[in-house]
Amino acid sequence: MEKRLILPLFSSMNTKLIYSFFSKILDSWPEGRVREIIERATPGDVERALGREGLQPEDVLALLSPAAGAFLEEMAQAAHRITRRHFGRTIGLYVPIYLSNICTADCTYCGYAVHSGSPGERRTLSIEEIRAECAILAGHGFQSVLLLTGDAPQAAPVEYLAQAVALAREYFASVAVEVYALEEEGYRKLADKGLEGVTLYMETYHRPTYAQVHRKGRKKDFEYRLGAMERAGRAGVRRLSIGALLGLYDWRADGFWTALHARYLQKECWRSAVSISFPRLRHAPERFKVQYPLSDRDLVQLMLALRLFLPEVGFNLSTRESARLRDRLIPLGVTMMSAGSSTRPGGYSHLGDGALEQFEIEDRRSPQEVAEAIRRAGYDPVWKDFDRAFVE
Ligand code: SF4
Repeated sequence: MEKRLILPLFSSMNTKLIYSFFSKILDSWPEGRVREIIERATPGDVERALGREGLQPEDVLALLSPAAGAFLEEMAQAAHRITRRHFGRTIGLYVPIYLSNICTADCTYCGYAVHSGSPGERRTLSIEEIRAECAILAGHGFQSVLLLTGDAPQAAPVEYLAQAVALAREYFASVAVEVYALEEEGYRKLADKGLEGVTLYMETYHRPTYAQVHRKGRKKDFEYRLGAMERAGRAGVRRLSIGALLGLYDWRADGFWTALHARYLQKECWRSAVSISFPRLRHAPERFKVQYPLSDRDLVQLMLALRLFLPEVGFNLSTRESARLRDRLIPLGVTMMSAGSSTRPGGYSHLGDGALEQFEIEDRRSPQEVAEAIRRAGYDPVWKDFDRAFVE
């Protein structure tokens, strides 16, 4: 298939942005170049990066390299200081609500994929069922919620998403979505209903791997997905959250490309706050084997390197990670954590007890237990939208 680069930057004479200029930046950092810099990085390169204020891409590659493995403590101290300076001693809490587990895509690593073979009921919540979920979570004290669907515009069209956002806004100060990639008009419709954030993971920035694991549906289109966050930013969405699904490809390379993407979005969508999530692929359907597993130590190095490169970017940590690890990561740059999560539609109101879940949760503590762990670490759990003032 013909490779689309910047030709489709502007899809037509009306200059509607569909594809991202970031595609060109990504191409200027091909895998070979990235690997070469990582492999030849020396302890001296790591020390130089640690001594700098504004890091360059080559610096973050040094911090992601095997040579930086001996400097984790120094990196942790610096990351801790930087996070404190920019975010204080607060950790925002949020909770996901799965609206639908119907998906027409076939991402080989996902339990929701149309051909995953995973048992369990497929369902989309009705508006009243969404209300029931919202009421329960608001009762726990949450003020920040993330609404999720699969890649199925037929099951969860934009109009349905807009209704869901409007309804969730009745209960929560901050509403974000993690849904299929939309056109700019789609994001604008949701922003008009009070949407504040969009989470959308590129999964992997390595095009061959992306093509291999995304076999069906709109998600197959790498370039269209890559441009989604700019479309959201242009539509007035004030929080943009990106990430790579760690384990799909080499974490050092995908981590680096994620960092470049975040920095690009900070400049391009300067009205929006950018954050990064670190979802690690742990439980996958039987047909999928994790080819690039990363250890806890690798995850820590990745978070530290990115924190030093991106001092003002928020870091989200989900319940995919164990309680023990999440507690230890708190001082190392985390700014938002999910808590008390269910990954099945209707999971809080028990309407969806038989429904298929997307992945297994590792940290099964209640929201109050997570909040208590945050306090024990010397931080304040923040239930409301803690950076609304900054965003506005
Ligand atoms: S990752 Fe998203 S788009 Fe892919 S199969 Fe799972 S729910 Fe569908």
